[in-house]
Amino acid sequence: MKKIIIAGPRGKMGSEAIKLVQSQEDMRLVACIDRKNNGKKLADIAELPNLDVPIYEDALECFSEIDANILIELTIPEQGYKHTKAAMEHGIRPVVGTTGFTEEQIDELSWLASERKIGCIIAPNFAIGAVLMMKFSQMAAQYFPDVDIIEKHHDNKLDAPSGTAVKTAEMIKESREYKKQGHADEKETYPGARGADYDGMRIHSVRLPGLVAHQEVIFGSPGQTLTIKHDSINRASFMEGIKLATDKVMEIQEVIYGLENVL
Ligand code: NAP
Repeated sequence: MKKIIIAGPRGKMGSEAIKLVQSQEDMRLVACIDRKNNGKKLADIAELPNLDVPIYEDALECFSEIDANILIELTIPEQGYKHTKAAMEHGIRPVVGTTGFTEEQIDELSWLASERKIGCIIAPNFAIGAVLMMKFSQMAAQYFPDVDIIEKHHDNKLDAPSGTAVKTAEMIKESREYKKQGHADEKETYPGARGADYDGMRIHSVRLPGLVAHQEVIFGSPGQTLTIKHDSINRASFMEGIKLATDKVMEIQEVIYGLENVL
């Protein structure tokens, strides 16, 4: 039985993760970390399921008092990093959906994982379809070096470009021959019009209410374009990947970054 703590239970991802844990026979929710509602039970929160599960504001207190195997972390980058590190220090294996961790933070967590011999999975996108989009884009980039990534998210998202867009660009870079795109003399009338430059390709971040998580990777070549597109219509799309990660994280003693390395 996997004993699970969820950080961010009132959030859109966190509340979906509670449903996931409830629906699985081999998972049990043992506590939640929430910056509000310290000392209450989930059952005391109107919008959450009627469960006798304690809520902690202080992650350290939670990790010290609760017997758990896995932390599912779904908050914000700064807090999420602290939760992840503290969980590993307490022998609890993190499955991190929170996006926006820096490379230095991931390096630090990797060091901690090898030091403590404990697993951790961090994935900027737990939707299996999104991982396939990245893999297909990596294949296409071998033949089409001109590529723009357009990612679109709801306007509450804090980081840009999205972790998925960055990961896609990194994977494309592995198979694409470097090319500085666009006209050599092009000028931006408004700064940022051409998007972020990553290894000569362009990344554009759209933020609008009504969106969830969407990405198009457009390859251009004389006489043809190829578009690889993925849409997460709601947050249920991320749960199958989180479920896979909770199995995998129990088997490893390192940090795995990206769901593509779990599948
Ligand atoms: P959300 O609905 O805004 O939920 C965020 C949660 O974090 C809320 O419960 C919020 O509590 C809590 N929070 C905010 N600031 C906090 C702080 N300082 N300390 C502790 N908790 C804090 O966002 P969401 O859509 O669920 O997304 C959560 C995270 O998952 C984000 O990082 C997002 O980018 C990421 N995400 C990942 C994937 C993936 O597949 N990996 C997919 C979608 C989203 P309050 O209500 O009190 O603010």
